[in-house]
Amino acid sequence: MGDPGSTGRFGDFGGRYIPETLIPACAELDAAFRSAWVDPLFRAELDGLLANYAGRPSLLYEAKRLSAEIGCTLLLKREDLNHTGSHKINNVLGQALLAKRMGKPRVIAETGAGQHGVASATAAALMGLECVVYMGEVDMGRQELNVFRMRLLGAEVRPALSGSRTLKDAINEAMRDWVASVETSHYLLGSVMGPHPYPWMVRELHRVIGDEAREQCRALLGCDPDIVTACVGGGSNALGLFAGFAELPAVEMVGVEPDGGAAVGRGVPGIVHGSKSYLLQDEYGQVMEAQSISAGLDYPGIGPEHAHLDATGRARYEKVTDAEVLNAFAVLSRTEGIIPALEPAHALAWVLRAKDELAGKVVLLNLSGRGDKDVAQVAEILDRESDG
Ligand SMILES: *Cc1c(COP(=O)(O)O)cnc(C)c1O
Repeated sequence: MGDPGSTGRFGDFGGRYIPETLIPACAELDAAFRSAWVDPLFRAELDGLLANYAGRPSLLYEAKRLSAEIGCTLLLKREDLNHTGSHKINNVLGQALLAKRMGKPRVIAETGAGQHGVASATAAALMGLECVVYMGEVDMGRQELNVFRMRLLGAEVRPALSGSRTLKDAINEAMRDWVASVETSHYLLGSVMGPHPYPWMVRELHRVIGDEAREQCRALLGCDPDIVTACVGGGSNALGLFAGFAELPAVEMVGVEPDGGAAVGRGVPGIVHGSKSYLLQDEYGQVMEAQSISAGLDYPGIGPEHAHLDATGRARYEKVTDAEVLNAFAVLSRTEGIIPALEPAHALAWVLRAKDELAGKVVLLNLSGRGDKDVAQVAEILDRESDG
C-alpha cells in the first residue's frame, strides 16, 4: 500500500474525476500534503496532538473471555478510547493542521450521521479555524444531538436540501462550496474517498492505527496476527489498520461491509464523488441509497484502494446482516464490558460467524468507535422486536 503517484491511481481505481475548477485545488493539496508528510516539524506537531489531545497510542486489548468463547485469540484495537470516541480524530487533526499550514482559515466538511462533522468541528475549535458542515436535511432530523454538538463546538451546520437529502447530497454541497471558496477554504473530507489526494492522504493519516497495532501485537504475543479485520463504510479505519500489515504477506486482511451497503459485495465499477471505485448503482447507473442499521456505514461507495485490494485479492470482503450486528453488539457488551459502536460490531459479527475458520488463530479487530451514540437506537429496535 504505497504512494499512488500524482495521478492517484490504485490499479484501475482512484484518479481524479472533478470539475476543471477544482483541479488546481487538488494539485495544491497534493503538493502541500507531500511536503508536510516528510517534514519532521509537521509530523512532530501532529504526533504531539495525537498523544496529548487525542490520547494515543490507543490500547491493544486481549479480549480473553470472548476469545475463550470463540476459540481464537481476539485482540481489540481500542480506537473507541480516543478523544471524541472513534478513529476519526486521527484524520481531522491531520487535515486541520494541514489547512493551517496552507494558510486557509476555513474548513468545509460533509457528514452523514454527524460523527465526522463533530470530529471536524472539534479539530477546527482546537485550531481556531472557521468550520462549515454540510449535512443532509433528513440526517439533521435523525441526528439532532450531533447537530447540537457541532453548534456547541462553534461550527455552522448547513442543510443539504437536494436529492435524498442524505450523505451523498451533503458531499455534493460541500464540493460546490469548495469550488466557490477554494482560496480560503480546505475541504476536510471524512474518509478514503473522493479525488486524489484524499484516498491516499486519509489512509496515511490513519496509518498510525496499523503501525501501533503491529508493534503492540508483537510486544504482547511475540508474533504477528493471522488476520486483521475492520468494518468498511468509506473504508478509512480499515485502511488505517491494513496499512500496518499489508507488507506482511502472511497476515490476511478482511473488510466487513453491511449487507445493505456492500459496495464490494454487490457494487459495480463506476465514478462517484471524484474517483473510480465500486458503488451501488441501479439499472440506469444512478447511485443507490445504502441501507444499514449503522448510519456511519450508510455510504453507497467505497474508497478506491479497497476496490484495488479486492481486485488483486490482497484483502477479502465479507458482508453481515443487521441481525448479526445486533447480536455482536450485545455479545461484546456482555462478555467484555465494552459497548461497541454499531460499525465495528460488523467486524465482530463476521468473527463470530467465522469462528470455525478462525479457531486457534490470532485475530486483530479494529474497534473503531464506542457505542454510546448507538445505545438509544439499539434499545428502540429491541423494544420493537419484543412488542412485535
Ligand atoms: C465513521 C465511522 C466508521 C466508518 O468510516 P470508515 O471510513 O469506513 O472507517 C466506522 N466506525 C466508526 C466508529 C465511525 O464513526
